[in-house]
Amino acid sequence: MPIKELVYLKETPGMGLGIFAVRDIEKDEVIAEFHGPRIRIENMEGIPHEVWDHLFNVDICDYIIAREPAVRTNHSCDPNAGIVKDVFLAAMRNIKKDEEVTFDYSVVTVDDWQMECRCGSPQCRKIIGNYAGLPDDIKRKYKNYTPGWIKGAQNTQ
Ligand SMILES: [Zn+2]
Repeated sequence: MPIKELVYLKETPGMGLGIFAVRDIEKDEVIAEFHGPRIRIENMEGIPHEVWDHLFNVDICDYIIAREPAVRTNHSCDPNAGIVKDVFLAAMRNIKKDEEVTFDYSVVTVDDWQMECRCGSPQCRKIIGNYAGLPDDIKRKYKNYTPGWIKGAQNTQ
């Protein structure tokens, strides 16, 4: 059963589409779900570029080709949401109606993917990479909002 999603899509200046709260959201409320067909990394050769933009890691080699609105969540280095139970976006703090909802892409990134960040927060790391590369204090901050599989992936390295 899909959950009732608490966000709407809106164009953001310079960042493309983003997701915004339909109402005030309390800390730990589930906001949206990453759902869609699953694909394994070995089956990805030749998939179109627009599909790459929809991939959401749910294990080291497993991805969901995620649908809107969740797939439009922008990254922030000072996010107000994180990931719980692998596929749900949940509030890390109270969020106001019409506030943009963001999460830190590093909590679901295991490979060498990198992105230049211009999120504008004072905590901005400028280059966003994988979970293993996050400083320990940031890992602690995201502790309850980080998928279990990526913490496991970290331990085996
Ligand atoms: Zn940033």
